[in-house]
Amino acid sequence: PLPKIQGDINFNKVVFEYEKGRAALKGISLDVKAGQSIALVGHTGSGKSTIINLIGRFYDIKSGSLTIDGRDVREVTLQSLREQIGIVLQDTFIFSGTIRDNIRFGRLDATDAEVEEVAKAVDAHDFIMKLPGGYETEVEERGSALSMGQRQLLSFARALLADPRLLILDEATASIDTETEIKIQEALKILLQGRTSFIVAHRLSTIRHADKIVVLDHGEIKEEGNHAEL
Ligand code: ATP
Ligand code: MG
Repeated sequence: PLPKIQGDINFNKVVFEYEKGRAALKGISLDVKAGQSIALVGHTGSGKSTIINLIGRFYDIKSGSLTIDGRDVREVTLQSLREQIGIVLQDTFIFSGTIRDNIRFGRLDATDAEVEEVAKAVDAHDFIMKLPGGYETEVEERGSALSMGQRQLLSFARALLADPRLLILDEATASIDTETEIKIQEALKILLQGRTSFIVAHRLSTIRHADKIVVLDHGEIKEEGNHAEL
């Protein structure tokens, strides 16, 4: 098991195929230092989710190497790896239960004060307090009581509370108003601080804030750099 992940990630000529003979990644090399945020962009089918799948070791690579803190990802036990990865996927972040339980998911030992602290950090506290039952308000998995933006902020609060070294975020594509957009960007900045993150980015504002933008095309890196460089 890993003592504690620092968050250096290195892809070296990684080839991966879901089906024999059809490479989804065709020799990806990417060096990520602990604490950096990487925005993955590219057309549908270009390999963004595949990169994320490999970091979480949901699949094994075919050739090349993938290391975390200089160690082959296959040497890391799945449990220690998954414990230190936070995954925020679009549209899947609310389950039936109270707002508090939704934030505490994965950190059941968290106190009420800790829950409120992270909610405040991502600026979700005010809207929560306006709900009929505050933190005890029951929400439904597919209920519409919460807006897309509010759901996203709750998922950020949950991830912040879990405090993983590695954060994977598949950004929601749903359109949101400008005010909420600004809130989400502020919350995202706080969430990304001090951890390595890979974001499948759909919003220009997110892409702009990333330390490194990786443009994928048919399983290859087409361009790499920060917003000023590209
Ligand atoms: P999107 O923007 O649509 O989410 P993406 O960039 O995330 O696209 P990937 O899901 O990484 O793309 O897909 C890369 C390639 O691998 C595509 O050709 C896709 O068809 C293929 N692929 C993805 N998942 C699987 C799977 N589970 N089984 C077989 N092929 C897959
Ligand atoms: Mg995808």
